[in-house]
Amino acid sequence: GRGAAMVTAVALRLAAQRREVDEVLAPLRLSHADLQKVQALMREEMERGLCKETNASASVRMLPTYVSHTPDGTEQGDFLALDLGGTNFRVLVVRVTEEGISMASEIYVIPVAIMQGTGNELFDHIIDCIMDFQTKQNLVTERLPLGFTFSFPCQQVGLDKALLLTWTKGFSASGCVGQDVVQLLRDAAQRKQHLGMKVVALVNDTVGTMMACGYDDPKCEIGLIVGTGTNACYMEEMKNVGTVEGDQGRMCINMEWGAFGDNGCLDHIFTHFDRVVDETTINPGKQRFEKLISGMYLGEIVRQILLVMTEKQLLFQGKPSPKLQTKDIFQTKFLSTIELNGLALRQIRAILSELELDASFEDSVLMREVCQAVSLRAAQLCAAGLAAVVEKMRENRGLEQLSVTVGVDGTLYKLHPCFSQNLQKTLKDLAPNCNVSFLLSEDGSGKGAALVAAVASRNANAMQ
Ligand code: BGC
Ligand code: MG
Repeated sequence: GRGAAMVTAVALRLAAQRREVDEVLAPLRLSHADLQKVQALMREEMERGLCKETNASASVRMLPTYVSHTPDGTEQGDFLALDLGGTNFRVLVVRVTEEGISMASEIYVIPVAIMQGTGNELFDHIIDCIMDFQTKQNLVTERLPLGFTFSFPCQQVGLDKALLLTWTKGFSASGCVGQDVVQLLRDAAQRKQHLGMKVVALVNDTVGTMMACGYDDPKCEIGLIVGTGTNACYMEEMKNVGTVEGDQGRMCINMEWGAFGDNGCLDHIFTHFDRVVDETTINPGKQRFEKLISGMYLGEIVRQILLVMTEKQLLFQGKPSPKLQTKDIFQTKFLSTIELNGLALRQIRAILSELELDASFEDSVLMREVCQAVSLRAAQLCAAGLAAVVEKMRENRGLEQLSVTVGVDGTLYKLHPCFSQNLQKTLKDLAPNCNVSFLLSEDGSGKGAALVAAVASRNANAMQ
């Protein structure tokens, strides 16, 4: 009768819709073979970055850090630390003793106008924050050694000399690229006649994280960040580091894998959505791997997919709300919440209505599926990168089986309900001969910078 005909019509409509949804999401779904290919490409780029002749043209820069040991437990002293380039800017005081590490910290805001103003304004602001912090902590009379966690690509010439190669993640302060960041900080301290600190080391956040986790676990020889941006570092054999003199021992290499693909080698996996997201950033064509993985961009990828789905009448009855047209309305937090297992669809609708998105029950189901596709791909790509790293370390050491720990930090990794699980599962598939544990870092950037500063000031004192 008529009822049956209607049921059939609905079923047909749903099946057609399903096909269209699958079509939109298909380019985001990566097969095992796709991921193996990404792993192989990462390995190739790593070799190119390490080799002196090809380094300048490699998309993965493999930057030397001048950190040659993970902590050995003998580090000691009181240090200031800065953490710039993640979700928050922080100033810390870190006390390293035989009994362990204690610290206090304060979060300061860096207004976008300062992130994108002049370098002098940026570094003056940083010094203001340090002075405020030292006053509050009663640390004005001391001249403390300072470790600077600076989460941007730098060509290091030593522990306390680091030329900024390029800004990433929405920073663009003028007059800094090509300059020694340590000197920029020292100059600002001088301008403000601030004598209460002495910059002794600069580290990337990946390195800080590896060092902090290495303090608790000697097997920690890899650092990974999946937050606002993404990157990794690991201990490489000096004999493989063509860009630094010497063949003895190891050195930590800051991979800067966020730029993987900037030379076109990942073009085959970019989707229409990735290209649109890239084009609307302040650094189009740059950090292409990062833009597939990290928190600053995933929400934007989701939003672009939703826009296309709305256009195809698959969502919101084909009517895009003005909110959906707004850049950056979906933050990492949003993806995390929407994918939370057990979060009822009713709650998802509530979240959406806060964003003035009037979502039906079906809309909510579909939005969750979109978020899942985007975050799963991010975790899988991150795993492909890591697989290349652990496999290289295993080969370096001539081992059948490598056992290693990855120190991890970053808001996406920490907050997202499935990211770490998806990452670990994919890594097992791609690097079956490596037994990889993950250690979440607690305040890693600050702690790590202090540990590096400890070694730097010990060496300086020894030389005096
Ligand atoms: C930067 C890296 C940093 C990573 C994670 C990237 O944008 O280039 O230096 O380690 O973000 O913060
Ligand atoms: Mg950070």
